[in-house]
Amino acid sequence: MTVPASTRPYNFSAGPAAIPEEVLRLAAAEMLDWHGSGMSVMEMSHRGKEFISIYEQAEADLRELLAVPAHFRILFMQGGGLAENAIVPLNLSRGAGADFVVTGSWSQKSFKEAQKYCPARIAASTQADGHTTLPDPASWRLERQTAYVHICSNETIHGVEFQALPDLKTLGCDAPLVIDFSSHVASRPVDWSRVGLAFGGAQKNLGPAGVTLVVVREDLLGHALPACPSAFDYQTVADNRSMYNTPPTWAIYIAGLTFQWLKKQGGTLAMEQRNIAKARLLYDFIDQSQFYVNKVVPSCRSRMNVPFFLRDESRSEAFLAGANERGLLQLKGHKSVGGMRASIYNAMPLAGVQALVSYLAEFEKFQS
Ligand SMILES: *Cc1c(COP(=O)(O)O)cnc(C)c1O
Repeated sequence: MTVPASTRPYNFSAGPAAIPEEVLRLAAAEMLDWHGSGMSVMEMSHRGKEFISIYEQAEADLRELLAVPAHFRILFMQGGGLAENAIVPLNLSRGAGADFVVTGSWSQKSFKEAQKYCPARIAASTQADGHTTLPDPASWRLERQTAYVHICSNETIHGVEFQALPDLKTLGCDAPLVIDFSSHVASRPVDWSRVGLAFGGAQKNLGPAGVTLVVVREDLLGHALPACPSAFDYQTVADNRSMYNTPPTWAIYIAGLTFQWLKKQGGTLAMEQRNIAKARLLYDFIDQSQFYVNKVVPSCRSRMNVPFFLRDESRSEAFLAGANERGLLQLKGHKSVGGMRASIYNAMPLAGVQALVSYLAEFEKFQS
């Protein structure tokens, strides 16, 4: 490979987010001629043997990584997390209503979009406390006839994360749990015994934008409303192994390289240990500081997305400028929340968080 070893900046973007450098290098090396085929992956027929082999490897690697049981199907779709907010009720509501637990911007969006397709209800909400906690499942108001229960298992903007998925059965609810795991997929294991369907855009933790992962229990297929577009009917997508229409071939290929990288790192359990260490380092520093603050209740804090504020917000612009100079990129918080946000997904090494913490300390010292 001719690409020199680089010292790339650390990229804290919430998404599209950093991709492991090894994956980018491999993709660069294979760009013009994939495995002697004479073609770039972007130029291949999705029905040719070359791409089929890429697809099958990616699917098998993902099934292994996430320990997806055999009675779940893996779909690679398009439209992102936001399209799934419509596609899920189109496929799962069966003319009944659905319950939503609103814990931040993303679950709020899911609730709002679902209203177009089915009676959607709020079973619990943390809006009153600014989405700095998670509601105890025992307090959720679930309808007896609900078609499904939706949660966002990691709220990318507000920085709250379910540390355990709710067990709906113990709440007297037989409906499937739907999780939007866009921003923490593959950062920790998933307890599939509690899940009916999980969806996530790839651009946070799995690869480039353009492919949306859906993992769905087989018995939930085949119930789409008549108005559901064929390309978004889970049964149709599953029957055609995600090739009813042209899939996002390039995005699937890069995601597949990322799955291989993740396996080499030791898989989801090893990533979880690293992610715990990274998050602890950052939260511990913020908590002991008089200069920075994170408002999320500690037991609800996200390991992936760490929003924080400078207590003196007039210093925010200087903070960001200094961070950029040191190669600490995209730390500006989401416009709806303000402040800063450090997204420390799987591709962020511990050294990147250490560099960020050093800068936080340096900036604080310089100000006082
Ligand atoms: C980014 C994100 C989305 C939206 O994904 P798009 O691909 O932009 O549609 C949905 N849910 C969560 C939790 C996200 O982080």
